[in-house]
Amino acid sequence: MAITADDLPLDNSFAQLPPAFYTRLMPTPLPDPHFVAASAPAAALVGLDAQQLANEDFVAVFSGNRVPARAQPLSAVYSGHQFGVWAGQLGDGRAILLGDIPSPAGPMELQLKGSGRTPYSRMGDGRAVLRSSIREFLCSEAMAALGIPTTRALMVTGSPQPVVRESVETAAVVTRMAPSFVRFGSFEHWYYRDKQDELRTLADYVIKAFYPELAGEPNPYKALLKEVTLRTARLIAQWQAVGFMHGVMNSDNMSILGLTLDYGPFGFMEAFDPNHICNHTDQHGRYSYANQPPIGHWNCYALANALLPLVGTVEDAQEALDAYQPEFARSIDALLHAKLGLASNRDGDREFLDDTFKLMQDNHVDFTLFFRRLGKLQLQAPETDAPLRDLFIDRAAFDAWAARYRERLRAENSVDVARREAMMRTNPKYVLRNYLAQVAIERAQNGDFSEVDKLLSVLQQPYDEQPDNESYAALPPDWASHLEVSCSS
Ligand code: AMP
Ligand code: MG
Repeated sequence: MAITADDLPLDNSFAQLPPAFYTRLMPTPLPDPHFVAASAPAAALVGLDAQQLANEDFVAVFSGNRVPARAQPLSAVYSGHQFGVWAGQLGDGRAILLGDIPSPAGPMELQLKGSGRTPYSRMGDGRAVLRSSIREFLCSEAMAALGIPTTRALMVTGSPQPVVRESVETAAVVTRMAPSFVRFGSFEHWYYRDKQDELRTLADYVIKAFYPELAGEPNPYKALLKEVTLRTARLIAQWQAVGFMHGVMNSDNMSILGLTLDYGPFGFMEAFDPNHICNHTDQHGRYSYANQPPIGHWNCYALANALLPLVGTVEDAQEALDAYQPEFARSIDALLHAKLGLASNRDGDREFLDDTFKLMQDNHVDFTLFFRRLGKLQLQAPETDAPLRDLFIDRAAFDAWAARYRERLRAENSVDVARREAMMRTNPKYVLRNYLAQVAIERAQNGDFSEVDKLLSVLQQPYDEQPDNESYAALPPDWASHLEVSCSS
């Protein structure tokens, strides 16, 4: 049966918090809104049909032009550290929460991003451009398909309304979904205002709604800090393992649920360089690939600091925070072993991994292609190395490395077929390379959204061989070396 947006079974658990946590307001309408794209798996998660989202009724609702019957729209307040500096109050400057709807995994909040100014907009226009909305849409869904915790993206709508960034672009709205958009910065907000009652109210809300198993702990706030720390460590290990760089790991962009949140100037590693900075605005590389793990820890520290009045003692907070490094080390070690097809842990592995990455760096080897092609190497057949070997400038160095790799595989009696199968499920073939997004964006800017759909469908099966879509796994073309992404979105 066709449902209308008014039938959406919306509730709003966040709206039950006291009024100080948000401002109730309406989205600002956009002229002539139109459908851009919808994600079938995201829609299915909340019992919707992606096809149906293209109809006028849903386009009106998800562009913010009409508020559905049961919505209680609001923008949340939060603060945060930006690039290591306390930035004070921020908040949903261009996002409006409509409410939450049921899903098998629990209630999912629906949030419009780019739906107009709010009391937290500061100097901003409350809008998002089509370019950045498509990037967020595609990457959210690509990350979910990779198995990495993330907010989801249900759909994108567009409008001819001009929006000024470095050049004049057009407006778009992306509908995001997550159990919660509460950030580390949501807690920092109350801590820095010395509002302990609000701090406790927020922590109690988060525990009750999202970490009910912690409510019975002797110190639930310490348990919350520890669990968030563990999730953050695991999340960042997963980012590192696929070469994902967030670009703006400010504490207001860190999810209290350990989800990848706020896709802006993100990127996937191509020619491997641990010092790569994907965000053109990040001149000092605070959020470079290699810095993501320590910055994740730094952000947990900022959260610990904010939760200190609830946790009680510095020792307890420190103890929870100390879970970060061992958990990150354990996670990344397991992920890297799997990426290399190694089933056991042996002496010398750490050194071998370091040498592998050093060789990749020296040879500017494409991160995704390296691991994918590595899976096809066979123990007894050196000729199977060719596609992998082609990625290296220094072929002799590669040959020496490959001999060492084979020796390591033999040490654990590795079996080609089994290893290959496992590696194909671990090392994606398809990731959202900047140039792929750029092609889809440029076509969309000319009114053709088919490439957004196509790319979305390719990225939905990132671990599968897709013979018809080989070109989507290719190295970036020369023109792509000039692509720059900045905070401008
Ligand atoms: P971000 O770096 O995108 O996570 O954003 C940091 C803060 O700036 C958040 O409070 C955003 O809501 C706000 N913001 C970013 N862009 C805009 C915009 N165009 N209009 C209003 N607020 C914005
Ligand atoms: Mg943000």
